[in-house]
Amino acid sequence: MSTLSIKTKIILATTLVFGIVFSGFSVVIYQRVKSAYVERLDARLEGQAEKIREEVEEQYLEKRFPNESDLRSLKTEGLPDPLIRLTDSVGSVIFGDSLLQSWPMKSWKEVEGHEFTFEERAIAQHRYRCLWAPVEANDRDQYAVQIAVSLREVEAGLALLQLLLIIGVPVALLIAAVAVYAIVTVAFQPLSAMVAATERISPLNLGERLGPPKTHDEVFKLAATFNTMMERIESAFKGQKQFVADASHEIRTPLTIIQSELEYAQKHFSELSSQESVEAALEEVDRLKKISDDLLLLAKLESPSMNLSIQSVRIDEVLTDCVKRMKPVADKRTVSLRLEICEALEIKGDEDKLRSGVLNLIDNAIKYSKEGGGVTVALSRSGKKVVVSVCDGGEGIGEADRLNIFERFHRSESSRLTHGSGLGLAIVRRIVELHKGEISVESQPGKGSTFAISLPSGE
Ligand code: ADP
Repeated sequence: MSTLSIKTKIILATTLVFGIVFSGFSVVIYQRVKSAYVERLDARLEGQAEKIREEVEEQYLEKRFPNESDLRSLKTEGLPDPLIRLTDSVGSVIFGDSLLQSWPMKSWKEVEGHEFTFEERAIAQHRYRCLWAPVEANDRDQYAVQIAVSLREVEAGLALLQLLLIIGVPVALLIAAVAVYAIVTVAFQPLSAMVAATERISPLNLGERLGPPKTHDEVFKLAATFNTMMERIESAFKGQKQFVADASHEIRTPLTIIQSELEYAQKHFSELSSQESVEAALEEVDRLKKISDDLLLLAKLESPSMNLSIQSVRIDEVLTDCVKRMKPVADKRTVSLRLEICEALEIKGDEDKLRSGVLNLIDNAIKYSKEGGGVTVALSRSGKKVVVSVCDGGEGIGEADRLNIFERFHRSESSRLTHGSGLGLAIVRRIVELHKGEISVESQPGKGSTFAISLPSGE
């Protein structure tokens, strides 16, 4: 895994790309300039050859051929000190510069057929470029002219260009790298600030947020997304803290009661009332057990690895069973329990969990009903949904409580005297969520409440 930062990687990558591009350009520029130099030189050599041809023809007409000084005095603009040699059709030198002696000679026969032939060679440690051209005074008198010029000036120009490129390319590369560094630093500045701000966030200051960057770009979106995520984490964290506080509170109350009942029993060991204290303590132990069971169930239901055992469930049969089970509890409170089932309905779900959810709702309905009241459990179909409702004529739920009763440990003020932990409805809501269903409540204080669970039908 690479340990380089993104910034360094971007700078290295762009410098490498610039390096390749600049070097490629330098090679192309060098080659283009070199061929431009040579083409210009060749054009001048050709011009000089044309002049010599015309001069030879003129000297022939005037019968003064070969007038060497006239031939040498011909000048082409920009052609410095050309070396000239003239040979006849068998290769004998008519006249020529001594420097050209070492250059292999060509006769007219060898050059005829081409208007111009070019060659390069070193003479006395200098490179020369030369042109060979056939010169025809008439059908019998045919010659070959050789014109050579030193490449010193061209080589000097090219050497200067080479030097400029060798210095220029690294300098341009350095400028490009510095520019990229500056751009990347500015672009990454908000990110660096975000990293620093993120490092400051800990469980002690979860409320801290990243200041959004001034620009409305990807970094801005990242900061906004991060802040939203922190919002969720903070609320989950707060919820968790609240949960622990609520759970300790709920557990502490029965423990205090158990403690005082047991202390009383200890003091009055032989008295009959100590028996009642032990019974009261046992009741609280039961309550504690129920709370810890509910907490465990809720934790399991909220765990991401929670898997329902989904199968076809006859929901009408589940309701019948629930009502049967709760009948003794209802009888104890002289609450009548009715079951209204429209038809046999099958859904896909986890039977045990669904049963536990419905039992919770019926238990609440009985618990919060007035003595002699009635509870109706009904099953109906609404489009592609199956609706289970539990209706009671009890104390009802106030507007403010209705918004919170599904939260863990929430209990309305009026229900404080009734036994309970405030976990039942949170468990029911989670079970319904896991079945992709919905739970709702309608209630009128003093008149009663109806809890309705709608679940996708199994069809
Ligand atoms: P518990 O019943 O153990 O307190 P629940 O989570 O089942 O906990 O219910 C939360 C609160 O919702 C109850 O304390 C009570 O105030 C209110 N509640 C639930 N069901 C009913 C009902 N049928 N009638 C009136 N209030 C209800």
